[in-house]
Amino acid sequence: MNDIQSQLVFNFFVYTNNIEMSYLAKNYNRKKISFTKGKGSYLYTSKGVKYLDFVQGIAVNCLGHAHPKLVKTIQNQSKKLWHISNAFKIPEGEKLAKKLCQKTFADYVIFQNSGAEATEASIKVARRYFYSIGKPHKNRILCVKNSFHGRTIAAIFASGSKKMVEGFGPKVPGFDHFIFGNHKSLKKNITKNTAAIMIEPIMGEGGIKVIPDWCLKELRKLCTKKKILLIADEVQTGISRSANFLAFESSKIKPDIVPIAKGIGGGFPIGAVLMNKKVASAMTPGTHGSTFGGNPLAMAVGNSVIDIVSSKSFLDNVKKLSKYFFVNLNLLKKKYPNIIREIRGKGLLIGVQLYTDQSKFIKKLMGKRLLTIRAAENVVRILPPLNVKKTEINQALKIIDDVCSKMS
Ligand SMILES: *Cc1c(COP(=O)(O)O)cnc(C)c1O
Repeated sequence: MNDIQSQLVFNFFVYTNNIEMSYLAKNYNRKKISFTKGKGSYLYTSKGVKYLDFVQGIAVNCLGHAHPKLVKTIQNQSKKLWHISNAFKIPEGEKLAKKLCQKTFADYVIFQNSGAEATEASIKVARRYFYSIGKPHKNRILCVKNSFHGRTIAAIFASGSKKMVEGFGPKVPGFDHFIFGNHKSLKKNITKNTAAIMIEPIMGEGGIKVIPDWCLKELRKLCTKKKILLIADEVQTGISRSANFLAFESSKIKPDIVPIAKGIGGGFPIGAVLMNKKVASAMTPGTHGSTFGGNPLAMAVGNSVIDIVSSKSFLDNVKKLSKYFFVNLNLLKKKYPNIIREIRGKGLLIGVQLYTDQSKFIKKLMGKRLLTIRAAENVVRILPPLNVKKTEINQALKIIDDVCSKMS
């Protein structure tokens, strides 16, 4: 067969088997279903079938789908200015950076476009700081084994996950690892070359494992004593997801560097590095940059998101909803002690840990029109929008109850 003949045979095969050819690479195992519309906590297929979306783009759409204020912001800004480059002053970015600093420990901000970029930039800030004070040998980052900091070449080696780095060598040097919750392993791995310890206050992909406040306090003390920096990766936990604006706030500590991303754009890609004055002083002109990072369109959306999610009444409501969700999930755990092992998390970052593999369970929930997503350790991750309604939580609880009852 020549090329034309084989193309014809292929076309005929696709046609007769009614296969819709995808030109996207196969690096995702995508579900067959797709959606054409979203409103608040719900997603709709082209046929109008309605799903309760408790994934929200993996903790990204913190205000649900198509929030009217965000729609308006995008409409207004899109008529004015989208992109300009960081060669010029961007008032929308100045405004958002000021709000982020006034709300948090931070003195300065660098904007990026995604979580991995924000964690990588955080690593750069830590190294550059020690370089700037004449201690360039302090350049190693100590991370939690099997954590998650994104998918760039450096970030996968930061995770210490065998699976994520497979086939992507050579190994990126400069990362050490300790075991979650193992303080001996933590202390053992600090050397004179350690620049920073990087943790997720709540491990997201790793199974919704919360670092208790007392541990964060000890960690801060340890870093201060050893003169190393503390990086808290709040890409998933930040922007009120944990019922505090940033998850570490409940421990009253101050990290030195905090990458954020997922929630801050409410669905628009934004990443950022929050940092204190000490480390920011090392980021002099030319040390870091991003073409897209902090463009006016993104910044306009970020400003609208932060105005909504950081009011006290909004946070109080997240706390109330969270408590309600946790109490009722724990009742389900009591009702199905052979299925549900543990309810984990904080705020509206919730993990239901099962005794067995969670993928069938997630499929069954989806069959009843509830969308959830996996995390490690048999965890079903539940990420409603932060403005979810109590009736929607009830709906999800009922579906989880139904699925459990059919399994027991
Ligand atoms: C999602 C996530 C990242 C990576 O974010 P991307 O936008 O996918 O690059 C990094 N760190 C944590 C803790 C995350 O949850």
